[in-house]
Amino acid sequence: MSAPVPPPPVTWTPEDTEAVDCCLCGIPGRLVHDLAPFGVVRCPSCGLVFVSPRLRPEALQRLYDDVGYFEGGVYGSGVEDDASSSADRRFDPAMLLQRTWTAGRLALLDRVRGRAAGGRLLEVGAGYGLFLDAARRAGWTTSGVELSRTGAKHATDVLGLDVFCGQLADAPLEPGFDVLCAWDTVEHVPDPLDFWRTARSLVADDGVVLFSTPYVSSLPARLLGTRWWTLKPAEHIWHFTPRTHAMVLARAGFALTQVVRSPLAPSNAGRLDSLVGVARPIPR
Ligand SMILES: [Zn+2]
Repeated sequence: MSAPVPPPPVTWTPEDTEAVDCCLCGIPGRLVHDLAPFGVVRCPSCGLVFVSPRLRPEALQRLYDDVGYFEGGVYGSGVEDDASSSADRRFDPAMLLQRTWTAGRLALLDRVRGRAAGGRLLEVGAGYGLFLDAARRAGWTTSGVELSRTGAKHATDVLGLDVFCGQLADAPLEPGFDVLCAWDTVEHVPDPLDFWRTARSLVADDGVVLFSTPYVSSLPARLLGTRWWTLKPAEHIWHFTPRTHAMVLARAGFALTQVVRSPLAPSNAGRLDSLVGVARPIPR
């Protein structure tokens, strides 16, 4: 019996890439890390760190549609359809972490709003729908958006969630959401300013936004340089700090009101290089 031959690892060429400018200043960045065919650059005006050259949109879609994209990570056990293997993975460390984040983030949401769950919640970057499923059980009316066809299909077909497959700007959504969540998403979007502006148009004036993202001013990012495990230049194309996040959000009409950096906080458990942010619409 011969073992199945694994597919070759994806390699990218300069033809798969394009140069982009700072989303705030419209100017090219200066090279920080050369990761050919990619570059990690910093805007000389505002300090925002981003990837340029980066993957073209068509190449990026190929990456997200790859069924292996979520595998081996925290989403692995979420896609087990077989009851016995799900039970086996109940105490899987990655799954325990996933559950801790979900519970911590739903609790943070209630604290931030000062009342119990209830209302309309939109998750952008819903993955396989694990958070959205938990939010629905907690009492939220949920909607989701997910770029990966594999993820969106699981969320809709297996979990019965309302998840649109595509970019946020293309999703047919009724504005007035009480909550918008974006877990580990904004570092992936083509243009964060566009992303948050679209988010602002969808969130009610008294609504709230919760998000998580790696941050480039974290200790691991500063100490490890190109060896920082979250650098991943194919998919992580914007690298924020609390300061640059606040700038992009303010330009889009949000005030960054809280930042959770502690890896001991349940909403950010075990994450040394990521933060959870809370933002509120600035009254118009
Ligand atoms: Zn800039």
